[in-house]
Amino acid sequence: MEHSERSFIMIKPDGVQRQLIGEIVSRFERRGYKLVAAKMMTPSVQLAKQHYAEHDGKPFFESLVNFLTSGPVFAMVWEGKDIVATGRKMIGKTKPLESDPGTIRGDFGIDVGRNIIHGSDSVDSANREIKLWFHAEDLNSWKPVTQGWIYE
Ligand code: ADP
Repeated sequence: MEHSERSFIMIKPDGVQRQLIGEIVSRFERRGYKLVAAKMMTPSVQLAKQHYAEHDGKPFFESLVNFLTSGPVFAMVWEGKDIVATGRKMIGKTKPLESDPGTIRGDFGIDVGRNIIHGSDSVDSANREIKLWFHAEDLNSWKPVTQGWIYE
């Protein structure tokens, strides 16, 4: 299917507490991306550790897992042309000083450990993360009526 790339995007507990769900969903919608799944949930320690497995052993790993499991997150799957790379640009860099204004982290965050949102960093990690957080039947395939006004 054309423009069917998907990314796992998650508003972390700080973003939920700060009531940024609507703002963030709106940014992806207005850009032209399509929401195919969403749920609010408090992740288990096991899920958080699996999600961040690549950071296991790093000094911030334990606090990262504690933070992610501290309250509800808003987990989503977004779809569209180059959503993985564009999503990362919309989110901004990991380091707060490098997160430009106009990006989600650059507009709403100050500290690396409270950076509002996660977005898959490659198509391979997106596929892994989507499988980890969602069942296949929770992913909605649908064609927005706006499609022809977003893609040429
Ligand atoms: P990103 O979320 O931008 O893909 P990473 O995968 O490198 O970044 O790191 C995952 C998460 O771990 C970051 O979003 C951040 O919450 C946390 N993190 C990364 N580096 C640090 C650090 N040096 N100190 C504290 N937390 C960190």
